[in-house]
Amino acid sequence: MNTKKNIVIAGGGLVGSLLAVYFAERGHRVRLFERRPDARKTNIYAGRSINLALSDRGWKALRGVGLEEKVRQIALPMYHRGLHQPDGSYVRQPYGQPGQAIYSVSRGGLNILLLNAADAYENVELFFNHKCVDVDFETNEVKFLDEAGNEVVVKADYIFGADGAFSAIRGEMMKTDRFDYQQQYISHGYKELTIPAGEGGSFLLENNALHIWPRHEFMLIALPNIDGSFTVTLFLPFEGNNSFSALDSVKKAREFFRQTFPDALELMPDFDQQWQQNPVSSLCIIRCYPWVRNHTALIGDAAHAIVPFYGQGMNCGFEDVDVLFQLLDHTADWPAALEQYQKLRKPDGDAIAELALRNFIEMRDLTADPKFLLQKKIEAR
Ligand code: FAD
Repeated sequence: MNTKKNIVIAGGGLVGSLLAVYFAERGHRVRLFERRPDARKTNIYAGRSINLALSDRGWKALRGVGLEEKVRQIALPMYHRGLHQPDGSYVRQPYGQPGQAIYSVSRGGLNILLLNAADAYENVELFFNHKCVDVDFETNEVKFLDEAGNEVVVKADYIFGADGAFSAIRGEMMKTDRFDYQQQYISHGYKELTIPAGEGGSFLLENNALHIWPRHEFMLIALPNIDGSFTVTLFLPFEGNNSFSALDSVKKAREFFRQTFPDALELMPDFDQQWQQNPVSSLCIIRCYPWVRNHTALIGDAAHAIVPFYGQGMNCGFEDVDVLFQLLDHTADWPAALEQYQKLRKPDGDAIAELALRNFIEMRDLTADPKFLLQKKIEAR
């Protein structure tokens, strides 16, 4: 009996591409369909370097297919939070014991590494500019539209929706009976900016830290990139006094930065241009269940999109892959394994969604509280 399966994955982001590697490593036929162009050939990140914090759960899943060392080469350890206080002082809060760190890694760099890793297998085919538009849970057929608008219908033994927070596969599940779905936008949005590298690729802020400018109702953070730059993210309410709607001109935005984050502003000579060019994006939490319909399953953000304040969305998606294969590797009964996968992962997804929201309050608020700082100093001893 041929135990090798025919797998179709919708979405070639971080989780979909890692999932493809896991299936390929076990000899299954994998076809991965990504809506966007190939990140390796076109600059879909529009020249902006966006990064993520990679932590233990993510590393474990990467180790499972021998990718840990490769990813380490493009990752920078961050051993502590570096707090930029309103009075201009700088305080370090260690993330763990000496030597323990979370890692900053470029989203684009990691995605390219994972796509290359998947592409290296003969049993993997990657299709770009293919947008998933439909799935039939009875016949296991998935419909995509290619760049020219042609319909491409593929049949699979198993289908995975790794197509992110606004998943088309999940959209089809929503039309089925007893599918629970909740979408919650939070009051804050974000804008990404860049602190460029200094002379000779030097870092203009401490490089082994996750920088935070906590200001209670809002905050600025910065994570280092291997080229010496920092990706800076401003989290701000959409409405109110200090909000994106209040900062409706570059002049107002610059003045806000001058008063609130003067040290960061000094390091962004092209602030005006960046402010105008870079979009404001919203933040959404998505909870749904079930994640499995017959032979189709959701994974990563498609199953559980969370706010980014705990730096765990991708890590949690990578852990989905790890847990899924702990189950699939020990049984021929895939439907039972998928059932167990969703039962195991749903409570964890809900828990991390809640923790991520709470960590926003810690990051923007409590890290700036003198009592909290003292407590952290005591803990760090
Ligand atoms: P995605 O990365 O969204 O990938 C989905 C892919 O599917 C995309 O390539 C998309 O083009 C494709 N797609 C979408 N629709 C279709 C379709 N119809 N057909 C075919 N393809 C489709 N997580 C962390 O762990 N650490 C962090 O520090 C961190 N920081 C973050 C900061 C911000 C500002 C944000 C917004 C998120 C952050 N996250 C972080 C969360 C992380 O980005 C996500 O959890 C992660 O990208 C999820 O991966 P994914 O592959 O499930 O989804």
